[in-house]
Amino acid sequence: MAEPLQQGEIDALSADADRFLAELDEEAYLHFAGLKETYDLGPIYERHERLTELDTALALGASVEGDRRRRELWKFACEGYLGNFVSEEAERVAELEATLTTTVDGEEIPFRMLRPRLMNEEDRDVRERIEAARGDLTEEHLNSLELQAAEVVQRETRRLGAADYADLYRSFGFPLDDLADQCRGLLADTEGLWEEAGDRFFRSRVGLGLDEIARWDVGRAWRGAEWDDAFPPDRMLPALEVTLADLGIDLYGQQNVELDLDERPSKDPRAFCSPIEVPERIVLVMKPQGGPADWRTLFHEAGHTEHFAHTSASLSPEERRLGDNAVTEGWAMLLEHLTIDPVWLERRLDFSRPYEFAAEGATELLWVVRRYCAKLLYELEFHTAEDITALRPRYVELLTEATKVEPAPADYLGDIDDAFYASQYLRAWALEAQLRAYLRERFGNAWFTRREAGSLLRELWAEGQKPTADELLYEVSGEKLELAAVGDRIRESLAAV
Ligand SMILES: [Zn+2]
Repeated sequence: MAEPLQQGEIDALSADADRFLAELDEEAYLHFAGLKETYDLGPIYERHERLTELDTALALGASVEGDRRRRELWKFACEGYLGNFVSEEAERVAELEATLTTTVDGEEIPFRMLRPRLMNEEDRDVRERIEAARGDLTEEHLNSLELQAAEVVQRETRRLGAADYADLYRSFGFPLDDLADQCRGLLADTEGLWEEAGDRFFRSRVGLGLDEIARWDVGRAWRGAEWDDAFPPDRMLPALEVTLADLGIDLYGQQNVELDLDERPSKDPRAFCSPIEVPERIVLVMKPQGGPADWRTLFHEAGHTEHFAHTSASLSPEERRLGDNAVTEGWAMLLEHLTIDPVWLERRLDFSRPYEFAAEGATELLWVVRRYCAKLLYELEFHTAEDITALRPRYVELLTEATKVEPAPADYLGDIDDAFYASQYLRAWALEAQLRAYLRERFGNAWFTRREAGSLLRELWAEGQKPTADELLYEVSGEKLELAAVGDRIRESLAAV
């Protein structure tokens, strides 16, 4: 049994954690923005060795005594300990993803462009070949590294004193079992809804019913190319700017927000946010492509950006940078889902058929939420499995049941989110659905045009991640966080057409 630490030692570790995260976020920014080819996590882990040592994690664990900040720091040290063991594999995976290419019909495609390429390919047979090439690359180059990392994590988790990875996260306060029950409930309650709405959605987007659609068609449907004219690339930033201005935020005037819009060959085409210093330096990286999916991603990342940029500097590092990520994801979803809100579409984009588009957006949300419900149920099995490779058919089974589309078996390792992040997304969707319902009730359906709504958001953003998603929602509306709220939100959008 480890000895508890003195307060002074805990404070020093907390300050070090703040630097550790800043360096990781900056490295991720440089690599994924295409400013640096390699992704060098090793030297960062070396500089913060103490936070990744087993003794530190065990001593912090012995010091928690019901204190939330200490528990967050303990969680961070455990993740540092596990991350340190697999940083080589993670670096290698990122390097391969950045450098691997494959040739389909004589065209050389970089690995990271395969998914975007799938979304943009009109020919179904070509899509099938691109997806097959993606599966082969994953199987051939990435899966052995992923498997090795998963086995190391499983082994080392036991040294942290937990029976398995799920058990470790339960001790960090993750409500995994309650959430898994809610997932089973949502999957059962929305089964018929998905079969009907999903079928209609795929027919209208790619001319294929739910019984004919294959995984290589899903990205194409998701892409929503027929709506491109309504979502041009050059209007993305102006629309974001005006939306934030209505809420009382001057995007270009924010000294602590950097917009990285430069073209670079190896820049990740997906927008992302790097909270390098919270709240002093938040970078929003994007490469505007246009189209509904690209708009959604930008608004999502802008939600993270504004949340971190408004976080109060007086909070502790644990409250600014650690804590419940369902909170920051909830804020990201709140802005993201404006782009599928019929009232926002009408006001901001003089959009024709906004209710039709909103219903399609709600159907996509239903797909993602059902997929994540299945992912959480899968991950709970994955992390307790004796032999991880035996889980491959189970991955296919659970995901197919939820989405009615068979996933690539090769993804059974790569489609796992570290740190039960799937559970954070699920709780974030619930938070978004319930916050939005509250905002509409209090400020009207055009709540996002009301300065008072903006004031409330800024006040809540200032709390950083000090409250959990459950506490935040209770503080605002007095409600309990419930996944079923997502189902209600989707039904409402679908009923409006
Ligand atoms: Zn996010």
